[in-house]
Amino acid sequence: MSEPGLPLDDLYREVIIDHYRKPRNRGTIDGARHVEGVNPVCGDEIRMDVVIEDHTVKDIAFEGAGCSISQSSASMMTEEVKGRTLGEVEAKIAHFRAMMLDGAEPAADLGDLEALQGVTKFPVRVKCAMLSWNVLQEGLEPSTTPA
Ligand code: ZN
Repeated sequence: MSEPGLPLDDLYREVIIDHYRKPRNRGTIDGARHVEGVNPVCGDEIRMDVVIEDHTVKDIAFEGAGCSISQSSASMMTEEVKGRTLGEVEAKIAHFRAMMLDGAEPAADLGDLEALQGVTKFPVRVKCAMLSWNVLQEGLEPSTTPA
């Protein structure tokens, strides 16, 4: 997909390419909670395994296919949330959404993810960046709902 007339350097920052070529926390985890999602607009897929213990994301891994924005966002996200408490992770999700959807400046706790701020200039690609975060959110929700 091309976006004529806009500077692609803003979209494909070096850190994004690096995570796309060498995704972190790629794979599966036995016995983990499994969640997945697709972005039909771009054909992106994310499958994620999350282990939550003691209100902490003890382990997380993902597999997927799709564009560099969707896959690098997932890779950077797993690095930022692994080992964090659920409260910290919820804050990161809120900060990432604010940056991508509301035009907020990147919060300090987003780390390398600030590289994705340039994607907000390409509205159709925001869904690519958000995909893994929406999947993560689902993975954090209680697997059983009280009757
Ligand atoms: Zn995409």
